[in-house]
This record gives sequence, structure tokens and C-alpha cells, in this order.
Amino acid sequence: MSQRISKDDLRKRTGAWIANGKTVAGPVQVKPGLVLYAQLQSPEVLLVDGWIRPGNSIKEFVFPRHEALYGYAIDGAGITLHDLPAEIPEQIIIGAHPCDAAALPILDKLFNWDYPDDFFNRRREATTVITIACAGHDEQCFCTSVGLGPAAERGSDVMLADCGDGSYEVRCLTEKGAVLWGGTVEPAGDGAAQAAAKSVAGPERRFEPSDVAEFAKEHFEDPFWREHALACVGCGACAYTCPVCHCFDIVDEGNSHGGVRARNWDACQFAMFTLHASGHNPRPAQGARQRQRIYHKFLMYPEKFGEILCTGCGNCARNCPVGLGVLPVISEICHAESI
Ligand code: SF4
Ligand code: SF4
Repeated sequence: MSQRISKDDLRKRTGAWIANGKTVAGPVQVKPGLVLYAQLQSPEVLLVDGWIRPGNSIKEFVFPRHEALYGYAIDGAGITLHDLPAEIPEQIIIGAHPCDAAALPILDKLFNWDYPDDFFNRRREATTVITIACAGHDEQCFCTSVGLGPAAERGSDVMLADCGDGSYEVRCLTEKGAVLWGGTVEPAGDGAAQAAAKSVAGPERRFEPSDVAEFAKEHFEDPFWREHALACVGCGACAYTCPVCHCFDIVDEGNSHGGVRARNWDACQFAMFTLHASGHNPRPAQGARQRQRIYHKFLMYPEKFGEILCTGCGNCARNCPVGLGVLPVISEICHAESI
């Protein structure tokens, strides 16, 4: 049986979690015109009314931009390695979008493929995701084209759906969610069971992912990639704000006495991403880098993990300074004469 909670009580509950020392994050207006998922200092700053798409994603709570992996000390010719404090605080993400929550099980596959990544897994285990079904969308959203939708439950521990009367219907979807909320786990559905909730139409389907994969297989050398990438400035905003882009670099950060080995986000749109020490770069131009991004998401990741590496959130297009992003590129592909 699903429960109901009023919006006021949801804010009170959020305040109680914060007061009890839990790390709670959700959509917050960080400055005029910019909403980000960020840690809440108080429940009042949580934005849950209406449809608001944060400029970032929730991946940074399980895969931080910078993460020290271990420490080292240099003493003469010797180097000593030491573990860093491993305690990961319990954290709650409230007000996640379904397209952000769905990214987490997709990332699980990458971070547990040939080697279980403890750093990712510990944060993932410590994180409970409370999603709010989308009450709207904009022209960049295309979740329905990649198998998701405004009430998709994948990756959520608790799902809330706005009933339109100042309350949410609550569905606990995992044991972790039920423990946090104090409810019982309900069978996974597709959102249709939220009979009490307002039914919200998702964005219309814009393309078939298999068409993109087919185009990719036949058009590796197509001038399309070079031409469409002419505007790209290689800023990496598309990858950094994407819920499922996960590339990182590992570097030593320290001085002659020691430091830490850390991993930092990286992005395939940076010219140095594939630059070899010899000076050779197998992706020497932006067209090759843009091609890689589409191939990875719609051809390589599906072939390896059976998943499209895209949840249709639209952040890449919203945050691109020159109007590129996955949807605009795929729209071009789907209308290309050569397909
Ligand atoms: S590729 Fe673009 S639309 Fe797809 S998940 Fe990443 S940011 Fe969202
Ligand atoms: S596609 Fe847009 S957001 Fe991505 S690197 Fe190029 S200019 Fe930046």
C-alpha cells in the first residue's frame, strides 16, 4: 500500500534528517538562474515545486569530481603508502529526477565490470535516492526515447508522485528506501500504479536508439562528424553535467614530501584526453571526439553492458554554449540524407 505525505511534512521530514546529522542533498537555487543538486543546509532551500531541471546531476554524490584514493609519504629514496579515512557519511538525495536516478544502476555496471570499485560502491551503498516523478519537461528532454519516462522507477529507493493537492504519493521501492522512510517495499511498476498521482505525459519519442547505432556502424569516416563538430569548443560541459559520463584521470597531487593519489573527472571532449606522451593523438580533432561520445553511448556501451549510456536528461544540450549535445546531434543523424 502506498502512503501519502503532505509537502509540509516532507519538508519537516527533510529537516529531521538534517538535524540527525545525515547529509541531505537536493535541488537548490545556488544563484539567480542556476539550480544545482547541492547539500541542503536547511529544508527551506529544497526546491520541489513545479518542474525544475538542475544544471548538474546526482552522479557527483557517488562519484565526486575529485577523490583522494590513498596517501603517500616520501622519505629519501623510500615511499610509504597509507590508506585515507574511509568513512563515508550516510547521504540522502531528495527530489532527484527519474533520469538522474536511472543513471546509478547504469554506472554500477561500469564500476563493477572487471574490478569492483570500492570508492564508488561505498558511496553508492551509503546513498538513498528519493525521486520525484517529473511534473513537466522541456524541449531538451527525451527520456522516452531511451526507455525511461517521467515516472520511471529505476535507480530510485523511494518514489514520490505529486497528487496535485499539496501531497505526494509515496512508494518505497527498495529495502534501503523502506528502512529510511519507515514503510514496506512495493513491487516495482512502471509508474502506472500511481493512480492517485497526477498523470503527466512525458516528452514525445524523438528517435530509435537502434537507428543511431546502425548509423554509427556505417558512418565512422563520414564527414558528418567533422562538420557538425565545427562549433564545439571542447569545454566538456556536456560530459560534466551528464548523469552517466564517468571518465576520470588519476594523478599524484603533492610535493617532495608526499601527497595523495587522486582521481579527477575527465572528459572525452578535451583535446588532451587521448594525447599520448609521444605527442600522437588518436583523436586529433573535435569531430573524432564528438563521434566518440555518440559511439560510446549508443554503440559501445550497449554492446558491452546491454545499456544505452544516456538517460535522456537533456543536460548536455542545455549546458552546451554552442547548441550541441546528444539530442541535436541525433536529430541531425536521423535527418541525414545518408541514413
Ligand atoms: S548524454 Fe546528454 S541527454 Fe544523455 S544522459 Fe548524458 S547529458 Fe543527459
Ligand atoms: S559539445 Fe558543447 S558542451 Fe560539449 S564540449 Fe563541445 S561545446 Fe562543450
